[in-house]
Amino acid sequence: AKEAGRSTWRRFVPSMQARVESRFELEGELRKALDLQQLRLYLQPKTNREGQVYGTESLVRWEHPEKGLIPPDRFIPLAEDTGMILPLGEWVLKETLQLMTEYPQLSFAVNISPRQFRNPDFVARIKTLIQETGANPQRLTLEVTEGLLITDFNQSSRRMLELQQLGISFSIDDFGTGYSSLSYLKKLPINELKIDRSFVKDLPEDSSDALLVETMMAVAKHLQLSVVAEGVETQAQRDYLYSVDCNLHQGYFYGKPEPARQLLERLKP
Ligand code: C2E
Ligand code: CA
Ligand code: CA
Ligand code: CA
Repeated sequence: AKEAGRSTWRRFVPSMQARVESRFELEGELRKALDLQQLRLYLQPKTNREGQVYGTESLVRWEHPEKGLIPPDRFIPLAEDTGMILPLGEWVLKETLQLMTEYPQLSFAVNISPRQFRNPDFVARIKTLIQETGANPQRLTLEVTEGLLITDFNQSSRRMLELQQLGISFSIDDFGTGYSSLSYLKKLPINELKIDRSFVKDLPEDSSDALLVETMMAVAKHLQLSVVAEGVETQAQRDYLYSVDCNLHQGYFYGKPEPARQLLERLKP
């Protein structure tokens, strides 16, 4: 009877409050997660027209002792709000750069959050990590979002140039989901666009998405940028993308994110 009473009460806890509590709880635990070595580096393959894996994207997970594997959407925004993104982002970079030296045939992409990129120490930290690990920056791509670049255009472009001089490439993540004009693309040292999964999801049937993808391809061609399509799940999507000359793909059709070593060992030549 006691159990039943409790679960009835539980159902009446306003979901808002539950969310606040769980966020608060996670925040405290996230602070410890790094020290307790609960973060896991996952990698997802990126494939070229020949169907070969030419690179990977680093995607972090949190292996919580009770809650299990927590996806990044549940703790990256929290880490961003609290500043935890700085040590967390540093961990992802360091882990990735260490792997780079062991797998010299692949390129590696790392997501950089706005707060991490805006940190005054960012460029210096990257330089130090490159020195410490001996990783080749020519094979490193940093994925940043449009919003970041627009809000702080001058500082962002200076910083990107500095990193590009080291050999690092830049990719615009979630491309097409922002509100920005395209003129900034021309002014920034960008190498690649990543077409957001939302535009790929309903291909090839959705003709307005198809038109958008073709437009993005035209823009990229004009600006001489390479293009990666995200979220490719089906053969029909793949074939459509090939037909518009979008040849670099990432998505469940080719492989889900998996523990870094597991994927890399399989890819070993
Ligand atoms: P993102 O950078 O846009 O990464 C792509 C997301 O789409 C990943 O989700 C990936 O698992 C998922 N995905 C890839 N292919 C498919 C597909 O075919 N179908 C579907 N349904 N999903 C697919 P994930 O790993 O949950 O990461 C979510 C977001 O969390 C990332 O979005 C990124 O913004 C952020 N994130 C992940 N790791 C890091 C990190 O180390 N640092 C920062 N700052 N952000 C990270
Ligand atoms: Ca990304
Ligand atoms: Ca995306
Ligand atoms: Ca995203």
